Amino acid sequence: MSTYTTDAEFEDAYETIQRTFRSGKTKSLAWRKWQLKQIWWMIEDNEAEMVKALNTDLNRHEFETHFVEFMSMKNDVLDHLKHLEEWAADEIPDAGLIMGRLSGAHIRKEPLGVALIIGPWNFPITLTIQPLIAAVTAGCAVMLKPSEMAEASQNLMIKMIAKYLDQDAIRIVTGGARETGKILEHKFDEVFFTGSSKVARFITAATAKHLTPTVLELGGQGPAIVCESADLDLAARKIAWVKYLNAGQICLSVNHVFVHPNVHDQFIAKLEYWFEEFLKSGKEDMTTIINARNFDRLKGMMDRTRGKIVRGGTSNRDTLHISPTVITDVTMKDPLLEEELFGPILPVIKDNFRKAYQAINTLGHPLGIYIFSKNKAEIDEIISHTQSGGVTINEVMLHAGVPTAPFGGVGESGTGYYHGKHGFDAFTHTRTVVSPPGFLAKLLGFLQPPYDIKNIGK
Ligand code: NAD
Repeated sequence: MSTYTTDAEFEDAYETIQRTFRSGKTKSLAWRKWQLKQIWWMIEDNEAEMVKALNTDLNRHEFETHFVEFMSMKNDVLDHLKHLEEWAADEIPDAGLIMGRLSGAHIRKEPLGVALIIGPWNFPITLTIQPLIAAVTAGCAVMLKPSEMAEASQNLMIKMIAKYLDQDAIRIVTGGARETGKILEHKFDEVFFTGSSKVARFITAATAKHLTPTVLELGGQGPAIVCESADLDLAARKIAWVKYLNAGQICLSVNHVFVHPNVHDQFIAKLEYWFEEFLKSGKEDMTTIINARNFDRLKGMMDRTRGKIVRGGTSNRDTLHISPTVITDVTMKDPLLEEELFGPILPVIKDNFRKAYQAINTLGHPLGIYIFSKNKAEIDEIISHTQSGGVTINEVMLHAGVPTAPFGGVGESGTGYYHGKHGFDAFTHTRTVVSPPGFLAKLLGFLQPPYDIKNIGK
């Protein structure tokens, strides 16, 4: 059980970062660069500790941690340092002679203020630190609230943030649902939430009271569609991998797969082959389910399914392992499709791609859709008949790895974007300033009474 931040500690942290933001300290580009460099060293110096913490929380293999946590954080720091001055520079709007050049119009990029970043447990460090990198680049003061469920990672972040980052402006607090609810009673200038659509409803109800801009990075039931023309071996390998990786506890994972009836059996055989291949060397290294509550939820869904378990189905509550499980003969009415699975269970639905996209549209828009096909017309039809945060074709999750492209959901899978400049923008207010010369003010005098309609348009 985590030790949570006390009310007094929270109030002290909140007051401190509010005061610092008002002082203007975080707005200076020098401060932002300094903190970004400190984040770099915080990651660099503590890689071994982070590998250990993530192994404690999730039994995660070091390779996965390097690949999914460190690479994205480090690339982000370098990218933000490189572009900070360019992104933060004033823009001159292209607005013609009078309202543009003569009016002295310019758009300032100002930090929104004091930001609250709430993180999830599945990639507990990177999904807390990546938004921090964007917030610091924008010049915000920041309060971090990592997930209490990944306790070792949370405790390590407490140590690292206190040691490396400016405590006047960046603080970390801890708590569960109740404590986070209390934190949200306070006014922030931005809330950046990564987590489930269910909890997002509590977050937005709380931020609405203060009219706080809120970015929601959520999940959903991301489907894969395997068309008749697909490279079946590739599809099976990629889908098996994304269910093995982090035990399928990924917002961008494949939740369920639609397979064309003519290639269904071949696809299942290849899927089984690839799971066996991965488990040959990686059985012990497979990430575990985060806790007993999630284990019971997944086990309960497996027990209630009306489908047929064709691989896996075994689990161990003591070690929190669930073997990658493939379930066929599933329909959209199966209990497995009632909510985002977030685990190593793969329901397979036998349907062609048209039926598939019609079915996809009966659930909330997902964060990702994965299409396996060699037919461009078919791919275009699926894309134009669905909505999702992003789409990856003949691969999985790759749309989230394009560093300069926006990453975010739509509808049920989220609101707002980050990654690259989109992250900077998420924490920035664009403020238009106009300072017309005296003669322009005189010219505009005709707008004041006494009104004369003949002057309009002259
Ligand atoms: P969660 O919504 O349960 O918790 C996220 C955070 O919210 C935690 O810090 C938690 O302490 C806090 N919280 C929980 N209940 C709360 C409440 N009632 N009021 C206020 N705060 C509360 O999510 P999770 O289980 O940590 O993560 C899994 C979910 O996150 C999945 O749905 C997944 O798809 C999604 N996710 C999305 C992304 C993305 O980038 N879009 C990334 C990772 C995970």
